[in-house]
Amino acid sequence: MPYPLDSYLHLTQADARAQFERILARRPASPGSRQEAFFPVETLLCFGASFRVNGHGYGGANITRAPEPVPQLARLFRRSPGSIIRKMSNLDGSSPNGAKNDVIVALELTRDVPAYLAIYQRLLLASRAAGISAVQLPDFLELVPHDSPADIGAFFEIDLIPDWQMEQAVQIEIDAWQQKAPDIPTAETERLAVAGQRIGQQRFAKDVLRNYQRTCAFCGLRADAIPNSRHLLIASHVKPWRDATGRERLDAHNGIAACPTHDVAFDQGLVTVADDLTIVRAPHLRDAAAADERVAHNFGAAGMLDRLLVPSPAASPGGAYLQWHREHVWGGVHKIIP
Ligand SMILES: [Zn+2]
Repeated sequence: MPYPLDSYLHLTQADARAQFERILARRPASPGSRQEAFFPVETLLCFGASFRVNGHGYGGANITRAPEPVPQLARLFRRSPGSIIRKMSNLDGSSPNGAKNDVIVALELTRDVPAYLAIYQRLLLASRAAGISAVQLPDFLELVPHDSPADIGAFFEIDLIPDWQMEQAVQIEIDAWQQKAPDIPTAETERLAVAGQRIGQQRFAKDVLRNYQRTCAFCGLRADAIPNSRHLLIASHVKPWRDATGRERLDAHNGIAACPTHDVAFDQGLVTVADDLTIVRAPHLRDAAAADERVAHNFGAAGMLDRLLVPSPAASPGGAYLQWHREHVWGGVHKIIP
C-alpha cells in the first residue's frame, strides 16, 4: 500500500496543502507515460466525486461527456478524465474490480460518511491555502446546510425498501467482492455493499431532484417554496427498485421527483404516464375525485396536472421505464394498458 490508511483518515490540513502544491507543480502527463500514483487528497476527492457522478455510466467514447466534477478534477490533477472515472469506480463501493489498495480505502471511507465529509471540508480549505480557486476546485458536494449530500431534502426510497430485498441485492454485491478480495471478512464486505447501495441511491436522488428542479412532476409543488422543509420530495423509481437491475436503480432517467402523495399514487398504479407524458388517472380515482372534494384536491384538475412537469427534454423519464410502469405497475392493478 503506497500510503498507510492514517494518511487518508487523519490527513492534516498541512499535509493536504503540501500534496496540492506538488500536484500544481506537475506537468501534464505525456501520452503513454506511466501514470503517477494518486496522492491521498486525489483519492479522497475522487471518492467524493462518486457521490455526484455514476462512474460506471462513462467509459470509452462518452468519457469526455462525464459531468463535473470529473473534468475539473482531471484538469486539476493533470490526469485524463478516464483515470478519474476509473478511480471513482474503484472507490464508490459498487465495483469489485478495484485495486486492492482502493478496496481497503473504500472500506474505511464508507464506514462513516459524516467523517468523510469532515475530511472533505478540510481538503477544500487546504486547497485554497495552496492557491487553488473555487473555479479550479469547486465545493462539488455543495456542503451548505440546505443541500449537503447528507441531507438533500429527499427521502431515500432505499429507506422504504423491505429488508429482504435489500439483503438480496447486497448478497449479490458481497459475492462479487469476495471473489475479488477473499481475505476481507464477510462483515466488512457486507458493510461496504450496503454503503455502496446507499451512496448509489443518494446520487440517484440528487440527480433526479436536480433534473426536476426540486419540483413534484405531478402537481408542481416546489420544495424550495417552503423554507427549512425536508422530505417534501421523493426521487421515485419509475421501474421500481425491487424490479430494476443494478444499472436501472442508478439511472436518473428511471426517476421522477414527486411529493409523497403523488409518489405513493404512482407506486400503486393509481396513476401512470403515457409516452407523450400525459398523466393517466385510474377510472376509480377519477370517480373518487368527482365524488369527494378532498380527493379532487389531490388528484383532480386542481391537484394534479394533465401532463408530467419535466423542466427539460433531457430530464424526461425513459420510454422503456414508462412502458414498464404501464405494463407491470398499472397493468398489474387494472389489467388493461393505456
Ligand atoms: Zn405532487
